[in-house]
Amino acid sequence: MQKLIASFAVAAALAFATTAGAQTYPDRNITVVVPFAAGGPTDTVARLVAEAMSKDLGQQVIVENVGGAGGTLGAKQVAEADPDGYKLLLYHIGMATSATLYRNLPYNTLEAFEYIGLVTEVPMTILARKDMAATTLAELVDYAKANADKVTVANAGIGAASHLCGMLFMSAIGTPLVTVPYKGTGPAMTDLLGGQVDILCDQTTNTTKQIQGGTVKAYAVTTPARLDVLPDVPTTTEAGLTGMEFGIWHGLYAPKGTPAEVVDRLSKSLQVALKDKNVIDRFAELGTSPSPEADATPAALKAKLESEIARWKPVIEAAGQFAD
Ligand code: ASP
Repeated sequence: MQKLIASFAVAAALAFATTAGAQTYPDRNITVVVPFAAGGPTDTVARLVAEAMSKDLGQQVIVENVGGAGGTLGAKQVAEADPDGYKLLLYHIGMATSATLYRNLPYNTLEAFEYIGLVTEVPMTILARKDMAATTLAELVDYAKANADKVTVANAGIGAASHLCGMLFMSAIGTPLVTVPYKGTGPAMTDLLGGQVDILCDQTTNTTKQIQGGTVKAYAVTTPARLDVLPDVPTTTEAGLTGMEFGIWHGLYAPKGTPAEVVDRLSKSLQVALKDKNVIDRFAELGTSPSPEADATPAALKAKLESEIARWKPVIEAAGQFAD
C-alpha cells in the first residue's frame, strides 16, 4: 500500500512538473535547427519565421545551421535532443525522400518527431552558370547529353531538394551527369556564380534575386504556372520536361515526447508568424507564400509527410539511387 501511495506521489509530481513547465514555456531561447548551411533557401525561410515567432513567444528563436548528408545530420541531432520544446527542426521535403533514399537512417522518420505544422511550399528553378551557351531548357538538355562526362550538377547532398530535382532531371533526360555535393545550396550557389559548377536546381528563396539580377541563367520553374516574380521563366512542362512538377514543402518538428501543450503553443505561434506582414512580403518577393493556417497544424504536417513518403518511394526506387 505504501508503495502504491509512493508511486501515486511520483506520478502526481511528474504531472505537475509537465504542466508547470508547459505553462511557463518558453522561459528561455529556443533553437531551430536548419539542416543545411547558412545563407541557403531553408535558412532564409527559417530566419524569417523565427523572427516572427520570437515576437509572439517573447523569447529569442535562434537558427542553428547543421548541414550535411542532405539534411539528415541536423534531423538526427533534433531526434536525439531533449523533448522540452527548446530544440526544433525546420526540414523540407527531404524529411520524406530521405526515408527511402537512406538504407540506414539513424532515426525513424515517422516515429522520432512531434509535428508542429507546415510552413511554406517553395518552387524550384533549374539554373546554369551565367556563361552557359544554352538559352533554352531544350538546348541545355542537348548540351548536357553531349557532355555528360563533364557537366557538373551541384546539390546539397542526398536527401536535399536540389538532389531530388537533379535526380528527376537526369531521369527525365535519360542521362546521368556528374554530381557535386555541398552542405547546402548557399555554398553551391556561390560556386555557380563563380562558374565552378555548371547546373544547380534550387528553390526560389535562394534564386529569385540571382535570376532577376542576371547573375545566373534560369531555364524553368517546377510549378504548374509561371511565377509573378519570374514571368520570363517557363514552367518545366512548357519547356518540354515531364515529371518535374513539385514544390519544396517545409515543416517544423520537435523531438518525440515533447509535451502536447508545448507543441500546441508552438503550432499557434507558427500560425501567428505565418500571418506576419514581413514574412508574407519577403516570401512573396522570393516566389513563395506562407502555408495557410489550416496547414500550419500537427495533423496537416503528419498527413503531408506520410503522403509524400508514399509519393516519392516508387520514384526513388525506379531511379535506383540509395545511400547508407
Ligand atoms: N534547402 C537546402 C538549403 O537550404 C538545399 C536543398 O535542399 O537543396 O541549402
